Amino acid sequence: SPCIVWFRDDLRLSDHPALHAASQTGAPVICLYVFDEASKPNARPLGGAARWWLAQSLRALRASLYSLGATLVLRQGPAARVIANLAHEAGAGTVFWNEIAQAPHRTMAGEVAAALAEIGVTSQGFPGDLLAAPAHIRTKDGRGLRVFAPFWRRVQASGDPPKPLPAPRTLGAVPDVAGDTLETWRLEPTRPDWAAGLRETWKPGEISAQARLQIFLESGVAGYSIQRDRPDRNGTSGLSPYLRFGEISPRQLWHAARFAAAARPALSGDIDKFLSELGWREFCRHLLFDVPDLATRNLQPSFDAFPWRRDNRALRAWQRGQTGYPIVDAGMRELWHTGVMHNRVRMVAASFLVKHLLIDWRKGEQWFWNTLVDADAGSNPANWQWVAGSGADAAPYFRVFNPILQGEKFDPDGTYVRRWVPELAQLPASLIHRPWSAAPPELKSAGVELGRSYPQPIIDHRQGRERALKAYATLRGS
Ligand code: FAD
Repeated sequence: SPCIVWFRDDLRLSDHPALHAASQTGAPVICLYVFDEASKPNARPLGGAARWWLAQSLRALRASLYSLGATLVLRQGPAARVIANLAHEAGAGTVFWNEIAQAPHRTMAGEVAAALAEIGVTSQGFPGDLLAAPAHIRTKDGRGLRVFAPFWRRVQASGDPPKPLPAPRTLGAVPDVAGDTLETWRLEPTRPDWAAGLRETWKPGEISAQARLQIFLESGVAGYSIQRDRPDRNGTSGLSPYLRFGEISPRQLWHAARFAAAARPALSGDIDKFLSELGWREFCRHLLFDVPDLATRNLQPSFDAFPWRRDNRALRAWQRGQTGYPIVDAGMRELWHTGVMHNRVRMVAASFLVKHLLIDWRKGEQWFWNTLVDADAGSNPANWQWVAGSGADAAPYFRVFNPILQGEKFDPDGTYVRRWVPELAQLPASLIHRPWSAAPPELKSAGVELGRSYPQPIIDHRQGRERALKAYATLRGS
């Protein structure tokens, strides 16, 4: 009888423990993806940009499976019911999947296993979405670690993760199994079709992920420790959405990076830094394991009393990249167009929302959730809470990023701003991060009309900073 592999956030063929185990049985394999927005409690419904990515990623997986003589069956509905029905229909003996160490996903997998057991079908889950299991990285009294440096030391001390598994060379012939067509899931926008920028920027799928990793380790990683902070340079791997959808696994990244470091010891400092960023991803996921409501609950309860402002106009100006602060606006427009934003600029733009505009971090988190192709249930809320000061190992609230100085330091020639805020492109580097301090003739010759072609700052930096500190003081006094 055939077996089933249930694909989840692991849309790849290599280093896929469940697929590997299924292929070893010698039985025909049915590869299945279930689009489940119905199970309760379910995982957080995907935002728009992530839905677009998912559609492309499923197409790429389907193409790779064809080359092994297999197909990808698509079905929609509550996972437990859908998988049990298919197992029954196809007379499958076993269902394999990779585990996801997060509460809603664990619950869902438990329901699937129970539904299968009821009809006499066995199931087997495999770890592999993380470098280290959250259950292994605990304090003496059994709690998760809340400070990054000791957390990362512990993960590293727990030794190399298992070596990545090869992709199967072939999969047994599968009986014809009916499934949905991808189009019926309506994952991609039609009218209006806002995904042109995403199509221009990305090629989702395992093959691209592997190519990107290789190019990055061969030619991008030298100087990473410094370049990674420069939004005007191409200094990071661009792997986050591929990691998000499991088109590449963290242990593939780990081993490839270690191999590169052994081959070129001069790069080991940069490679360690790169791996420690992967460590942050891991840290965020472990946090989510302990705090399933990370996207809605302040990790530090004192923030529950924070006097956030409700200001939809300001929120909208931030979302559209119309705050009058060029580095913030460039970042927000990059996000809208490409589905990602450079990490340094994410920090500055997020800080601007929660500090200068005093808008609840959850509003920003939600916007990022909808617009990021790498929107991650761990990394997104954990980083927002880090910026807001309400999170684990967080930046202190009183450290208010200065968006002008951040721009001047990390985009010194204004290349990044010129790219995303073209209406300022003619300003010289000395003025591009502070157009309001240009003299009228300078603005005129650059074709900038403040308040018309580009907004005046939505709030004065110094006033914003003082207002934020006052709001924070009320919290500490409460
Ligand atoms: P690289 O520099 O090449 O790093 C390699 C990998 O390390 C990344 O792909 C990513 O998986 C991981 N990583 C790097 N920095 C972080 C970090 N600070 N936290 C967690 N993991 C990290 N990252 C997401 O993957 N999804 C999100 O939803 C997300 N939301 C964010 C929200 C805010 C407010 C901030 C400040 C950061 C957020 N990040 C998020 C982290 C970071 O900005 C991105 O991971 C990074 O920009 C991705 O680019 P890259 O793959 O080129 O990174």
